[in-house]
Amino acid sequence: PGHLYVVATPIGNLQDFPPRAQQVLGEVDAICAEDTRNSAGLLAHFGIQRPLLALHEHNETAICAQLIARLRAGESLALISDAGTPLISDPGFALVRAAREAQLPVIAIPGPCAAIAALSIAGLPSDRFVFEGFLPAKPNARRERLQQLAAETRTLIVYESSHRIGDCVDDIVSVLGTERLVCLARELSKLYEQSHRASAAELKAWLAQDANRSRGEFVLVIAGAADAGVDTQQAEGERVLRLLLADGL
Ligand code: SAM
Repeated sequence: PGHLYVVATPIGNLQDFPPRAQQVLGEVDAICAEDTRNSAGLLAHFGIQRPLLALHEHNETAICAQLIARLRAGESLALISDAGTPLISDPGFALVRAAREAQLPVIAIPGPCAAIAALSIAGLPSDRFVFEGFLPAKPNARRERLQQLAAETRTLIVYESSHRIGDCVDDIVSVLGTERLVCLARELSKLYEQSHRASAAELKAWLAQDANRSRGEFVLVIAGAADAGVDTQQAEGERVLRLLLADGL
């Protein structure tokens, strides 16, 4: 049978396109892409000309059987998404599961992933972490999800869009508390790349200072509840000290 290659593509900077990814994409019989127009541009830039098939959340289940038949017949296929690693808040799960269930070879061609890039620079515990993808878009549902995560001790990673970054940070402040450490990473590997690590309350103020800071694509890396780190312990110490001083002790 043919191989299904799950291929990561850049999350912004085109120089982050691994050579092996380019080679595999140039050799497969067809490339399944989330948005064929978007991917056609990327592939043309690298001189890759292979037939493109649309595979997105609306047709993924419907075209699986057909793609599995092609793999069984010996064709090799690659799966890419608009940016980063397929299946990570992106389509592809139904196809990969179907290929596994059909005992077909599935090969990862590793590369960029915004969540892992952000975690690697956040300066928050990275030995154990939880990827939550996008939090719910509706305020009540988002706060409810944050409430469910409030006692989680592992570092949390969430994706956010520019429309909701302000509201999302507001909810982190009100549900997880002002002192929770958060690292905001925006536009990773792009021209206006920026990352800022602060307490939730400070991060909220930092966002409010400059509208440009709410533009682009975001990853939030949020310290876990118990492993919140030295800064929070220090803040707690200062809070206790203030209480003692207020009591005249
Ligand atoms: N599959 C992708 C990956 O491996 O990272 C993620 C796809 S998801 C639909 C898109 C979200 O990823 C954006 O809304 C943002 O939260 C995050 N993201 C993607 N590229 C990013 C970048 N260059 N900087 C910061 N966040 C990014």
